Amino acid sequence: MIQPGATIGILGGGQLGRMIAMAAAQLGYSSHIYAPEEESVAAEVSARFTCAGWDDREALSTLARDCAVVTYEFENVPVEAVNAIPASLRAPGTRALEIAQDRLTEKRFVEELGGRPAPYASVDNEADLAEAIAKIGAPGILKTRRDGYDGKGQWRIASAQDGAALRLPGPGLIYEGFVRFEAEFSVILVRGLDGEVRFWDSAQNVHENGILATSSLPAAPIIAEQVAEARKLAYRVAEALAYVGVLTLEFFATADGPVFNEMAPRVHNSGHWTIEGAVTSQFENHVRAILGLPLGDTSTMWPKIGMTNLIGEIEGGIGKLLSDTRNHVHLYGKSEARPGRKMGHVTKLG
Ligand code: AMP
Repeated sequence: MIQPGATIGILGGGQLGRMIAMAAAQLGYSSHIYAPEEESVAAEVSARFTCAGWDDREALSTLARDCAVVTYEFENVPVEAVNAIPASLRAPGTRALEIAQDRLTEKRFVEELGGRPAPYASVDNEADLAEAIAKIGAPGILKTRRDGYDGKGQWRIASAQDGAALRLPGPGLIYEGFVRFEAEFSVILVRGLDGEVRFWDSAQNVHENGILATSSLPAAPIIAEQVAEARKLAYRVAEALAYVGVLTLEFFATADGPVFNEMAPRVHNSGHWTIEGAVTSQFENHVRAILGLPLGDTSTMWPKIGMTNLIGEIEGGIGKLLSDTRNHVHLYGKSEARPGRKMGHVTKLG
């Protein structure tokens, strides 16, 4: 158990790091943010900030010397950067990151544990794509195996002709059959250093243009019926990785049961409602887990909860958001509102 006063290193400087740092501060720990970008909304609420590249070995060693534990808030941190931190300080470890960074590796890993992803095929060239469409059918989605997030690096393919007309951005792609889902949900769990696992309730997620728009509770009955099976898979993933911290798996609820979409070895946007809506938030429990502290209760405290992302320009500003007295407003302090950029979120309770 790491005592208060110690410093947590966080690789990545975005809003997830910001909310981890805020939870750490509440428990008496300080944070040291490490990110290559000069603007960091996590650094704004943290004691220290190192702005350096992922390949800067010296800066990573300095971070490790300053910190009792080092975590990450972003799954595209290069594995080599995390490997530059002594293994005893890393939480979660690099295996989860390696798997989650490649959609193909991730799907194979989950299948080995009994999970069921959408039908998929690896695509490196036009011939592979034609073969994949012939085998899996259309419509489908072509995705980059690496570095995609918030719907980036994805192309919808309506027909074989569509596929033939597409100019591939390069090798390293995956074609997935389009899943006719009734709803989307995520399973978010925390696993402690001692192996204790706790789950939050699964919210119903709605995406727009590949970006999460809302997460709400209670979820539709079809989700409630499929959560137990989805949790079993998430539990097996956490065990297989000897995972420490918060882990997220996203699912499609279909007429044939839960279909695995993807995993994130970190706190997740669909769990932001836990800040006000659960006894212990995903951020606080992540901090507790990586420090070896007892985990907090994950129970939901309100019968109805709705989390809405604030994406791009915020219409009416903070005044309008706060004019509804039930709104809990979180603004991330980003300087520029661009289309598709997550600027904050609002959680409404009750
Ligand atoms: P992803 O980045 O892969 O999580 O994709 C973002 C969103 O796009 C998902 O949450 C779904 O709403 C949609 N999507 C992605 N892949 C599929 C698929 N194979 N079938 C149907 N919808 C999908």
